Amino acid sequence: MSVVGFDLGFQSCYVAVARAGGIETVANEYSDRCTPSFVSFRPKNRSVGAAAKSEVVSNCKNTVQGFKRFHGRAISDPYVQSVKSSLVYDLAEMPSGATGIKVMYMEEEKVFSIEQISAMLLTKLKETAENALKKPVNDCVISVPSFFTDIERRSVMDAAQIAGLNCLRLMNETTAVTLAYGIYKQDLPAPEEKPRNVVFVDLGHSNFQVSVCAFNKGKLKILATAFDSALGGKEFDEVLVSHFCEVFGQKYKLDPRTKPRALVRLYQECEKLKRLMSANCSDLPLNIECFMNDVDVTGKMNRAQFEEMSAGLLSRVEAPLQSVLEQAKLKKEDIYAVEIVGGASRMPAIKERISKFFGKELSTTLNADEAVARGCALQCAILSPAFKVREFCISDVVPFPISLKWSSAVEEGLGDCEVFPKNHAAPFSKVLTFYRKEAFPLEAYYSDPKGLPHPNATIGHFVVQKVVPQASGECSKVKVKVRVNVHGVFSVSSASLVELLKPEGEEPMDTDHNDKNKMQVDQEEQKAAGDVTGDATPEGDDMTDGTGQNQASTEESKQEKKAEQPSQAKKPKVKTKTVELPIEHKPEWQLSNDTLNLFVENEGNMIMQDKLEKERNDAKNNVEEYVYEMRDKLHGRLEKFVSPADRDSFSSKLEATENWLYEDGEDQLKQVYIDKLAELKQLGQPIMERYMEAEEAPKAFADLGKQIQMYMKLVGAYKAKDEQYAHLDELEMTRVEKQVGDAMAWMSDKMNQQSKQDPTKEPAVRVFEVQARTKELYTSCNPVVSKPKPKVELPKEEQTANGPVNGQPEAEEAGEGTPATVDAEQEPTDSAKLFSRPVASSPSCSSENVFRSNRSFFSVFLFLFLPKT
Ligand code: ATP
Ligand code: MG
Repeated sequence: MSVVGFDLGFQSCYVAVARAGGIETVANEYSDRCTPSFVSFRPKNRSVGAAAKSEVVSNCKNTVQGFKRFHGRAISDPYVQSVKSSLVYDLAEMPSGATGIKVMYMEEEKVFSIEQISAMLLTKLKETAENALKKPVNDCVISVPSFFTDIERRSVMDAAQIAGLNCLRLMNETTAVTLAYGIYKQDLPAPEEKPRNVVFVDLGHSNFQVSVCAFNKGKLKILATAFDSALGGKEFDEVLVSHFCEVFGQKYKLDPRTKPRALVRLYQECEKLKRLMSANCSDLPLNIECFMNDVDVTGKMNRAQFEEMSAGLLSRVEAPLQSVLEQAKLKKEDIYAVEIVGGASRMPAIKERISKFFGKELSTTLNADEAVARGCALQCAILSPAFKVREFCISDVVPFPISLKWSSAVEEGLGDCEVFPKNHAAPFSKVLTFYRKEAFPLEAYYSDPKGLPHPNATIGHFVVQKVVPQASGECSKVKVKVRVNVHGVFSVSSASLVELLKPEGEEPMDTDHNDKNKMQVDQEEQKAAGDVTGDATPEGDDMTDGTGQNQASTEESKQEKKAEQPSQAKKPKVKTKTVELPIEHKPEWQLSNDTLNLFVENEGNMIMQDKLEKERNDAKNNVEEYVYEMRDKLHGRLEKFVSPADRDSFSSKLEATENWLYEDGEDQLKQVYIDKLAELKQLGQPIMERYMEAEEAPKAFADLGKQIQMYMKLVGAYKAKDEQYAHLDELEMTRVEKQVGDAMAWMSDKMNQQSKQDPTKEPAVRVFEVQARTKELYTSCNPVVSKPKPKVELPKEEQTANGPVNGQPEAEEAGEGTPATVDAEQEPTDSAKLFSRPVASSPSCSSENVFRSNRSFFSVFLFLFLPKT
């Protein structure tokens, strides 16, 4: 199971993974931890991330960026319409009415849904995680803005599915940040103490999000969230772009808005200038060469001017800050710290305003760019059984009030009830009780459309099916469970019909309800709602502890049990039977299963196409590289190893191939390049091999020579009756002497032949032959000479006094010339490897090795993660 967190940002994405040792933000193929949210389409493939961003000028019409907020939006949506004119690429309407993106891909005009585009980005991020973890990635946690509505969340979930990801949780960006902040804190107040309230501010490229969170030891509870969904770094870029459009209009009579490429370059330069102004308050230049009509443009700006021009945007910073305090009923003094993240939070004017509002220094303890991804990875680790993480309960909130509408009994008409008020804890389930005789529809919607950053307040339509009256013909009691799940998505998750089984001789007790045709909500709300009664059992702390899906089923069964209790207590004599009812769900705009499957298949095909194209390009590059490499070397280090005639013909072949690459060979199949390379290598390889042989032969001979010398020395010492070797077998030592002599004769013969050989011809002896000879000598001689000395039994006291057996210090035992056993796997080629210290016992059994082999196991558990307190 993979533990991965993805921050799917408007401008850039980050990937964090859990590895033994902690959470790590991982780098992409460019060794960059930031992957730009760009997807580019070409005639033969797609490119995503940094490669796509680099095409934003050259292939601007087919390079898609800034699409995060199109999730769950119709093409007619006011937001989509408002940004449409500033996009360089084209939008198109999907058959469902949703926003699609029109590009040229594979030399055809194609319209991709926003889910497909995000899936392409996720595929890239998935690959980055897979490369880092060196294993397939499926399970993950993905971030979304806390203000994303149901429809937007479901759209992101679909994108994850298209990318082959199993999203364990869609996590609100600021909640991910709170987790990344809180889980490491060792000094949080105890659960029974007053919580520590911290405000988190995230100013990204497209939005401004604020949340206030109450921390206690082992838990975080989001109290409230607020946002400005149209205040982000890009709005500040827009200020600069508008300014310079005006300046260049006056100064050079140019209108960049009429030329997409020029406009894209202007946006890039303005963003750079904005970043520079954060660190510098003097005048800074903006220069673009050949901007439009071959005209170079230049302008300048300083921070004070920029802040003045951005006064309108800056004045919007306070409202969300004020809002979270009011919602959470907290005063500024109640706030322990204000932590800021998000790239645009680096702007001094922004920091100043936030700091002034709270009357305190801002805290920047988290990595402003990576905190969201790290929080998501932490959440994934919490959800994963593969990691042991300190227990930490995460309780989020429902950002917008959710109501249910239903058509009710004939006499009552429409019914309506707010089931989840704003800032209600999430994830959370409630059980509602209805009295019905037949299938009935429920419509879920956001009940405060004005506070919603989306024009569509509808969440979905649900029909509770197969409802039948009681045997008596009266209404049946139907329990409906509604839920905001870990993704922040609302659903009518289950429904059951409570059938009253009439005990013999007794009347059913539930008659007070049977003449009604109403809905009951939870008991607390019952009084306020008048006629509405029922059971609503919160999923409790457990459901908000971040264990999410893993616990859902058990919690649900618990829930059902609890729900049953009140009625049983009141009417002990009435037996009931519960029948599960099917629910038909018509979400507002969800991709159908068929469409989703088609998109999954298409994504797979596109991945395959990208892979094939990459392989084809690699094959072409290999030919090109070989041509350049050999051309250089033929007149350099390989010159000695090729005859002049061969060199000339090979050189002209290389030149012809180079020309071919720019002409007919420009766009060929992969196999054509592979064959071309093989053709060249047929000529080049023998030269290369002769060169390699000449390079490596001296070392091979030196190794053999060293070994011969060593055995000769040993044989000499043995013959001189050196006591050290007295235990060696005479016959065997004679054999060793002969083998050493043979090896020496072989070596000098081969060296002699080789020295006379023309270097442009095959060598007299190959390196591998010399190495084989060295190995052979070792294999036959080493067991003889390394036979251990027989042990001498010493009196006990002497043994203890002198340490190791034989009374010799260990260092001496390992000294040169002392026979010793050699590890069977060792294949020494020099004297240093020839003798090694005796091994007391099998290495894998030593206590040190047991510790070592378990080290990776231990580190998983040490993994940040903390002793359980
Ligand atoms: P979002 O959170 O809206 O989905 P994102 O996560 O991609 O977007 P971030 O990466 O947090 O956004 O921030 C990007 C924004 O931060 C850009 O507008 C960028 O210009 C801005 N930014 C980054 N560094 C600086 C800086 N030093 N000064 C000013 N702005 C900066
Ligand atoms: Mg962000």
